[in-house]
Amino acid sequence: MYLESIALERTYPCLAEPGKIIVVGRPSRTLEEVLPFLATLPNVITYNPAAGTLTFRRQAGFLTLYPDRIYITKVRDASEGLSLLAALTDAINATWENRHLLTPATTLRRAPRPLDVWALLPQTNCRQCGERTCMAFAFALLQQQRAVEECPVLRDDPALTDQRAALRAMLGVSA
Ligand code: SF4
Repeated sequence: MYLESIALERTYPCLAEPGKIIVVGRPSRTLEEVLPFLATLPNVITYNPAAGTLTFRRQAGFLTLYPDRIYITKVRDASEGLSLLAALTDAINATWENRHLLTPATTLRRAPRPLDVWALLPQTNCRQCGERTCMAFAFALLQQQRAVEECPVLRDDPALTDQRAALRAMLGVSA
């Protein structure tokens, strides 16, 4: 076992979504050694091996790991926070136990920027998604306010299948 537990250290209001909280967890030992293996898992959006920071996209919000701290955004309440920290402890231990199957990540991975997302959109500014421009839709995708399927052009055109898959991979969302 790598980690005994992650204690809930504190919570504070989540500015990204009023009514939700940010949970701060403190692992029972440093995550330094396990971070390169965790960085190989799906849904990673940024990884900085030099700084020792790793961010995952959650269904709602983000999960960021530092060697000595964990931040989870858009959590309903402290009780959900405790469940998430317990599940994360299990996931970290399972990853550590299976590390011989993984190639540790050693290179920087940065979060996609609006222009990266826009480059994979149809760029017609047709407004079928309800946004005024494809760039506005790109911003909304990055803020998790919209989903890739809400662009009907990208969703329905078979010629854009690869583009759609690339965008999903960039955003760390499953098909
Ligand atoms: S529906 Fe798609 S192509 Fe049309 S404006 Fe929205 S993002 Fe752009």
